[in-house]
Amino acid sequence: MPGGADVIVVGAGSSGCVVAERLSRDPARRVLWLEAGGDKAAATELRLDRLPVEAGSQRAVHYPSRQGFDLPRGRGLGGSSAVNGGYFMRWHKSDFAGWPWPQQEIAAAYDRLDGGEAGGGSMHVAAFADDELHEYARAFENHWHDQGFGDSTGPWPDVGVVRVRSNRDGWLRRSAAESIAQRIEGRKNLQLLTDSEVIGLRRSGDRITAVVVGEQVIAADEVILCAGTLGTAQLLARSGIVGAQSIGVWEHREVLVRFTPATPPAPAARALLQSVLHTDDGIEIRCYNGDFADFISGVPATGPAMGVALMHTGEPGSIAWDLTSGLVVDLGEVSRSDREKLAVWAERVREMLDGPRFAALVERSGGGAVIDSVVRTSQHAWGTLPMGVDTDWLGRVTAVSGLRVLDASILPTAGSSGPHATVMMVASYIADQIA
Ligand SMILES: Cc1cc2nc3c(=O)[nH]c(=O)nc-3n(C[C@H](O)[C@H](O)[C@H](O)COP(=O)(O)OP(=O)(O)OC[C@H]3O[C@@H](n4cnc5c(N)ncnc54)[C@H](O)[C@@H]3O)c2cc1C
Repeated sequence: MPGGADVIVVGAGSSGCVVAERLSRDPARRVLWLEAGGDKAAATELRLDRLPVEAGSQRAVHYPSRQGFDLPRGRGLGGSSAVNGGYFMRWHKSDFAGWPWPQQEIAAAYDRLDGGEAGGGSMHVAAFADDELHEYARAFENHWHDQGFGDSTGPWPDVGVVRVRSNRDGWLRRSAAESIAQRIEGRKNLQLLTDSEVIGLRRSGDRITAVVVGEQVIAADEVILCAGTLGTAQLLARSGIVGAQSIGVWEHREVLVRFTPATPPAPAARALLQSVLHTDDGIEIRCYNGDFADFISGVPATGPAMGVALMHTGEPGSIAWDLTSGLVVDLGEVSRSDREKLAVWAERVREMLDGPRFAALVERSGGGAVIDSVVRTSQHAWGTLPMGVDTDWLGRVTAVSGLRVLDASILPTAGSSGPHATVMMVASYIADQIA
């Protein structure tokens, strides 16, 4: 373990990979990079039809929620990017209204990751092609076209039927760790230590001066937290930097509409999510290509489902931490108007599943599709330390000096798509500014 560094980056997930790579391009900057979990994921764990987040997985940790849902997060090199659904979509352009960053620089940061119009980029992003679509996704797109929705194509999604762009090499998820592996090879000023959980931050007055790993205290001019929304909140609460009770957190709450597959069932899918619908009132309808039990070991089989997700939720949840319970997430209440909106779209999804496009795919003898009464989670928690409030627009924590947060914690607003591409875009934009 080294005695110190110019910069310590905590966490080697989606944001940490981008930040450690960018900051260590300058050979004069000594970057120490600490990851709680193990080394790179094996190819079998990167299959797009498998999310290795089951209980006991070496690639995930699980946080409890007051609602009783398990909240898995990626652990080890690649973090959540190595275990997630492989959906890599930009937010809508309109989601950045109010951000002080130039639109063309936001676009340039996304381009570096997803290759823009042509696809590619460091994350090897490609939309699923027509002949790669699962039968559910094909029926889904046909249905919404019948309903008058057009296709939203290109790198910037908008209202309409959106073919998912995915970070992948064929049918393998490309993690953030793979996206930088070649570039960091041989860099002597970058030291990555896996199995090295940071358990606390040391401060002198109002300045963060060091991190604690096991019994070692490692000093740095600057500490950059990329431990993920829940990991960063835990570390900050444990170190007394933020109040340990009621840290606000945002989530895309989701209702599932379940159905029984027809006999014989559609063939097994090679990817969880290939097509979504974005509505003009902030809903994302997700065509999951099977039962979650098909994609995650140990999950009880409950039948395939479509998801109806509230992308611009009105109410935050909260996070509490104490020595006895550790971190506990309360996903919060869903307001009456949001519940009504979810109910309207869930009913339209039920009609879709009972309609002609799904006639050969859904077993109807038992009464057809059923709307689940539980409002679930998308595993997207963000916004505990929003930029412009708890940090500046370069992730510098306002309460103390010497500390930045560059992971999903600092997203200041909700987005109309999932967070992964935007978490990495934000890390890339800021790392470029401060390098
Ligand atoms: C199961 C799942 C599926 C998802 N699917 C999608 C999807 O398809 N599309 C989408 O847009 N979004 C998806 N998401 C969300 C998306 O993956 C995350 O928003 C994004 O990866 C968060 O990046 P991050 O850098 O903030 O954190 P992470 O990628 O989670 O990285 C945090 C890293 O920090 C490490 N760490 C934590 N604490 C410490 C510590 N104290 N010391 C050292 N290291 C530490 C962790 O081990 C981890 O490697 C999904 C998330 C999950 C969990």
